[in-house]
Amino acid sequence: MKSLKMLLAGAALGLALATPAAFAQEKGTVGVLMPTKASARWIADGDNMKKQLEEKGYKAELQYAEDDIPTQLSQLENMVASGAKYLVIASIDGTTMTDVLQQAHDKGIKVIAYDRLIRNTPNVDYYTTFDNQQVGVLQATSLVDKLGLKDGKGPFNIELFGGSPDDNNAFFFYNGAMTVLQPYIDQKKLVVQSGEMGMDKVGTLRWDPAVAQSRMENLLSSYYGDKNVDAVLSPYDGLSIGIISALTANGYGSGDKPMPVVSGQDAEVPSVKSIENGQQYSTIFKDTRDLAKVTVGMIDALGTGKEPEVNDTKTYENGVKVVPAYLLKPLLVTKDNVQAALVDTGYYKADQIKP
Ligand code: BGC
Repeated sequence: MKSLKMLLAGAALGLALATPAAFAQEKGTVGVLMPTKASARWIADGDNMKKQLEEKGYKAELQYAEDDIPTQLSQLENMVASGAKYLVIASIDGTTMTDVLQQAHDKGIKVIAYDRLIRNTPNVDYYTTFDNQQVGVLQATSLVDKLGLKDGKGPFNIELFGGSPDDNNAFFFYNGAMTVLQPYIDQKKLVVQSGEMGMDKVGTLRWDPAVAQSRMENLLSSYYGDKNVDAVLSPYDGLSIGIISALTANGYGSGDKPMPVVSGQDAEVPSVKSIENGQQYSTIFKDTRDLAKVTVGMIDALGTGKEPEVNDTKTYENGVKVVPAYLLKPLLVTKDNVQAALVDTGYYKADQIKP
């Protein structure tokens, strides 16, 4: 019969093996690169990735690059050099990683593009994201519905904002939105007074709220001296906040200038509060817990020699190949479903988003 001492020693060994540190050697290090802490969504992405990786016994090396391309590249180089087994990358500029990803490939490191596609390289194995085209469709549909265009109302004035031209997603958001808006523009039910259309005209480098704010100021002073703007297509909550500041400074939201219908994305706290306050009209909720879950699931599959699950093998051509992708569903949020979408699901606590 085993002595008590032996039993205890066995139990202690079992415990030691069950700790994340012990698993890490076996399951390996995952380098997780996020673009910036300036926007809350990426903080949530990083936290969820780290938590879920550690729960599964990986070592997570999480880094943010404050939207600086050279910083992100050197973080990536360090991770490749220091023996990461997998890389999960939300890129700042998706076109700048070709050389370092060649090195990663040569070392057998598996690479997953996280949320944003990595372009111009064969060395990206998978892509996890939300249906980016659908994000744009939902943003534009929320504007069209709120304006009452489907009920024959109009014409209305609209201005368009796009995301960062170095982010592949920005084109999907814009093009998705235009599938909905263009027919109304063609029928002159929507009028872009500035005439500024197309990503080359309406893009917002690095998704910078200050850039959107000053562009909105310029649009108002150049084209809306004797007219009101009725709607603004904004692809991201941070930009929406900047746009709404410019509108408020120009007297919108009071008197004979109602706040235009403004879209957004990411359900960030300041924008959810703005929605509750009746300023921003809509946002898009992308549950970062789910994106982390799908991404960690892919890593687990790769680690056990299985084929990761994908649900799209035709959309995301990166200049060299079509990257197999798993697309999650984005959800439109307006005042009507803040509670159901964001509080009941446990994403936020009610008092976090109280205006
Ligand atoms: C993401 C959006 C986000 C934007 C700005 C995009 O790549 O898909 O969710 O709003 O970057 O951070």
